[in-house]
Amino acid sequence: MIYADNAATTRLSDAAKKAMLPYYDVRYGNPSSLHTAGREARAALAQAREKAAACIGASPLELVFTSGGSESDCQALITAAEWGRRQGKRHFISSAIEHHAVLHTLKKLERYGFSVTLLPVDKSGIVTAEAVRAAIRPDTAAASIMYANNETGTVMPVSEIGAVCREAGVLFHTDAVAAAGHLPIDVKAQNIDMLSLSAHKFHGPKGVGAFYIREGIPAASLIEGGAQEAGRRAGTENVPGVVGMAEALSEACLHMEANAAYVRSLRDKLIEGLASVPRSVLCGDRLRRLPGTVSVCFEGIESEALLLMLDAQGICASSGSACTAELQKSSHVLRAMGFSDTEARGSLRLSLDEYNTEVEIDHILDVLPRAVAALRRLSPA
Ligand SMILES: *Cc1c(COP(=O)(O)O)cnc(C)c1O
Repeated sequence: MIYADNAATTRLSDAAKKAMLPYYDVRYGNPSSLHTAGREARAALAQAREKAAACIGASPLELVFTSGGSESDCQALITAAEWGRRQGKRHFISSAIEHHAVLHTLKKLERYGFSVTLLPVDKSGIVTAEAVRAAIRPDTAAASIMYANNETGTVMPVSEIGAVCREAGVLFHTDAVAAAGHLPIDVKAQNIDMLSLSAHKFHGPKGVGAFYIREGIPAASLIEGGAQEAGRRAGTENVPGVVGMAEALSEACLHMEANAAYVRSLRDKLIEGLASVPRSVLCGDRLRRLPGTVSVCFEGIESEALLLMLDAQGICASSGSACTAELQKSSHVLRAMGFSDTEARGSLRLSLDEYNTEVEIDHILDVLPRAVAALRRLSPA
């Protein structure tokens, strides 16, 4: 099987798995317990917090461990809403290409009396710092702009957006779930106030993530109960998950440059090979994109049919984000980029990682163009 859907999720790394195992059956204490077993778990948690924070230039207490990217996004926006409400600021800036965890939370905040400006993007799928600056109003509480888009791989000018927000006194949150472990992150240098990341997108376990919140900003908790995570997220901590996440993140950061160079070479080979498929177009900026993500629209086909054909030949790919795939609706990201509904229905995302090989790329380039041609023969549009 060729796995080319790393934007949906990744395999657990051996190092992360090895680091996690003792916390299931040997050091299984509750970090809140006072005895030796509890102390062991507490120490593991503290060590993981230090390790993960160092990867993004944060200090350990600025990290809240969560259940993943969706929860972190939600906590960031609710935190911004509370912060804004206290100063009479009820306006949010975000973009049309955000993950649904952001878009749906903003919809909910609109029902609670907040107003939201969703910035459009151009054909390359980039949100500019100028657009953010132009949208800032006296009552703007926060801007939430993703670091890299999970469907197209396009990377946003996050440092510039951070500078614009900091200057205007607007909180800046970035959903870095698709970027973390793949692109360098330095929350201080990039003026990021809040950031979301999720372990399973960088070879950590599923169901665990982190919410970075700059010191001095009071975090609004989504879950009430015990005093875990310094009162910012109640509930017994997912110790094995957090340990695995920290291990995977530090591993990814340590090998980031080498991995990115290798994965980028596979990606570019794929992009060049697919360019010769008639009536196809690369989605998103050619250069400003994640090392492993390729998104292509093939005119005149339905991506579901293509996915099934590829799957039958042992290739796992996606039609966009995993969530969009379930809803059977064309991608909101591609439509925001100006693709028609029909064009967006023929989209395919191949997302690679360092476990993929050149032989696999050759195989995809052998199978995919023939599958596209076969589907077009079946239903000539
Ligand atoms: C995967 C993803 C999420 C959701 O993360 P989960 O850990 O699956 O909840 C949010 N934003 C982006 C950009 C993602 O790629």
